[in-house]
Amino acid sequence: MAKGKVSPELIEQFKQIVGEKYVYTDKDKLEPYSHDEVTDPHYMKEPQVVVLPATTEEVSKVVKLCYENDTVMVPRAAGTGLAAGAVATFGGVIISIERMNKILEIDKDNMVCVSEAGVTTSVLQEAVQKEGLFYGGDPCSGDSCFISGNVATNAGGNRAVKYGVTRDQVMGMEVVTPTGEVVTLGGKFRKNATGYMLMHLFIGSEGTLGIITKVYLKLVALPKYQQDLLVVFDNLDDAIALTPKVMNAGITPVCVEFMDNASIKQVEIFLDEKLPKSDVGNYIIIQIAGDNEDVLMDQCEKIVELAEENNAIDSLVADPAVIWKSRKAYLEADRARSLVFSMEDIVVPMTEIPGAVQQISRLSEKYNVAMHCAGHCGDGNVHIDILKDDRTQEEWEEMLPKIQGEIYALVYQLGGRLSGEHGIGYKREALLEKYTDPVELKMMKAVKKALDPKNIMNPGKVVSINDEVPVEE
Ligand SMILES: Cc1cc2nc3c(=O)[nH]c(=O)nc-3n(C[C@H](O)[C@H](O)[C@H](O)COP(=O)(O)OP(=O)(O)OC[C@H]3O[C@@H](n4cnc5c(N)ncnc54)[C@H](O)[C@@H]3O)c2cc1C
Repeated sequence: MAKGKVSPELIEQFKQIVGEKYVYTDKDKLEPYSHDEVTDPHYMKEPQVVVLPATTEEVSKVVKLCYENDTVMVPRAAGTGLAAGAVATFGGVIISIERMNKILEIDKDNMVCVSEAGVTTSVLQEAVQKEGLFYGGDPCSGDSCFISGNVATNAGGNRAVKYGVTRDQVMGMEVVTPTGEVVTLGGKFRKNATGYMLMHLFIGSEGTLGIITKVYLKLVALPKYQQDLLVVFDNLDDAIALTPKVMNAGITPVCVEFMDNASIKQVEIFLDEKLPKSDVGNYIIIQIAGDNEDVLMDQCEKIVELAEENNAIDSLVADPAVIWKSRKAYLEADRARSLVFSMEDIVVPMTEIPGAVQQISRLSEKYNVAMHCAGHCGDGNVHIDILKDDRTQEEWEEMLPKIQGEIYALVYQLGGRLSGEHGIGYKREALLEKYTDPVELKMMKAVKKALDPKNIMNPGKVVSINDEVPVEE
C-alpha cells in the first residue's frame, strides 16, 4: 500500500542525497508548496517534506528510495498549475525540479533547444530569440511557469493557432520513471517511427507517470514582422464567427483570443485603466506575423474587411503592450474580485463556442452567480471563471458541482472535452472518471498501472486506479 507518511529515516536519506539545505521540513518553507494557482482552500494541503534535487542522478536516487519504501512522490515545477496537480493531496514527498534551471544547448543548425526541467518558459523564449530563433510555446503564465511544467500539462496558450500546443514543440525528453530508472525518449531528430512513441504519453501526464528532467524543443526562424489587431463586437456570436472566416481566407493567425464584456470590465477595474469600447464590447484579439511586411498589411486589411462584414463595431491596430496585458490579466482580475473561484477550461469545436457561451450566460442567471468567459477561440478553448460571492464555503461547495454538471453535459453534447489545456490534476479527476468513454478510461488506467505499479507517482491525479488512496499514518 502506498504511503503518504514519510518516515524520519527517509528524510535523513534524502538529505544525504541532495544536501541538508535542500530538504525542507520547516512550516514556513512548506507553505508555498501547499497549493498551486487554485486558491480555493479545498484544494490546499501542506506537504510534510519538499526535496530539491539538482541533477537527474539526484532525482533518480530520491525516486528509487521512495519506490523501495512505497512512498508517494509529487513532481512539482513552478506551481502555476490550475488543476491542483502539484500539491501533496495524499501526502508524500514533493520533488521540486526548481534547481535544475540551466539551458544546456541552443543548437542553431538542428534548430533544437535542450533544456533542464526547471527553466522558466519566458527565459527560454528570450534566450532562443537572442540567437534569431523562436520557440512557439507561449502559455499566458510564461513569466513564471517552467518548461517541464508546460510539457507535463501539455500547456496551450496564445500561439497554439499557428504553432500548436506544447506537444507540437517537444522532440524528446529525459524521464526518471517511478522506479528510479532514467530513460531518454526521442531526441534531436524530427521524425521517428521507431516503435511506440512513449514520449507522447509523458506529455500531458501531469506527473503521474514519471519525472521529466530534460527536454528537447523544436525551434523555428524568428518572424521579422508582427501586427496585433483588436476587433470589437457588441454581439459575441459575430465575434466568434470571425475566426473561421479569417482562416478560410488563407490567413493563419498566430493568435485569436476573445474576452467577453464582463471579463473586460473586470480587467479594467483590476488594471485601473480604461479599455477601448468597454461599455458594450466583446474583444477579438488577432496577432499575425511573417517575413513580408506588405503581405502582412494585406492580411490586416482583409481581416478588417471580414470584421466589418461580420458587424464589428470597431477594428483597431492594437498596442501589443496594452492589449496583451489586458488579456493576460483576465485570471488575476477575477482572483482579485474573489480568491475562491473555479476556472473551467472547456474545449469545443470552434464553431460551437457561441452556443456554449450563450448557455453559460443562462447558467449564470439561473444560479445567480458571476461567470466570466475568455479564451483561445482560435482553438475552441473557453475559460469560464465561476466566482464565489458572499455565499458561505458550504453553499459554494454545494452549488459548484451542479453548475459544472450542467456545463460538462453541454460540452460533451457539443462534441467537446473537459479541459483544453489546464489538465485534470486532482480538481477534475472525478469529472474525468464520469465523462470519459469507459474504454478510453480503461486504457488510461492500464497505462498508469503498467508504468507506476505501486501507484506512488502523484496518485489520485488524472486517474485513480483500484480506488486506492495512499495511507497517511
Ligand atoms: C496567470 C496564469 C495564466 C495561465 N495561462 C495558461 C495558458 O495560457 N495556457 C496553459 O496551458 N496554461 C496556463 N496556465 C496554467 C499553468 O501555468 C500551466 O499549466 C503550466 O504549464 C504549469 O507549469 P508549472 O511549471 O507551474 O507546473 P506545476 O504547476 O508545478 O505542475 C503542473 C503539473 O505538472 C506536473 N509536473 C511539473 N513538473 C513536472 C516534471 N518535471 N515532470 C513530471 N511532471 C511534472 C505536476 O505534478 C503537476 O501535475 C496559467 C496559469 C496562470 C496562473
